[in-house]
Amino acid sequence: MTNIRVFECCQCERQFAQKKWVCPNCKNAEFKLTEVNGKGKVFSSTRIHVTSQEFAHLTPYTVALVELPNGLRVTGRISEPVEINDKVTCISNEKNTYIFSKN
Ligand SMILES: [Zn+2]
Repeated sequence: MTNIRVFECCQCERQFAQKKWVCPNCKNAEFKLTEVNGKGKVFSSTRIHVTSQEFAHLTPYTVALVELPNGLRVTGRISEPVEINDKVTCISNEKNTYIFSKN
């Protein structure tokens, strides 16, 4: 399993998938990079059949928005079709894209 990198507010410890300039919760501007468990569930998904040449060898694949247990949502790629609420695990990170697999 591969962990997901998240940004955590140094003051209130709230976590974000993307780095923020200031924490929307406490207005603090200091964040630290941390990692969370790569298990989550599918929030939404899109099956991709046609894509740019760079990704053509991967088609068909699924791009999914995966909701992690802490409520964060990250985008990832899954080779198989998935349904909403399917449980998925992050298995690798290729060129800054998280690759998930159905549990
Ligand atoms: Zn904060």
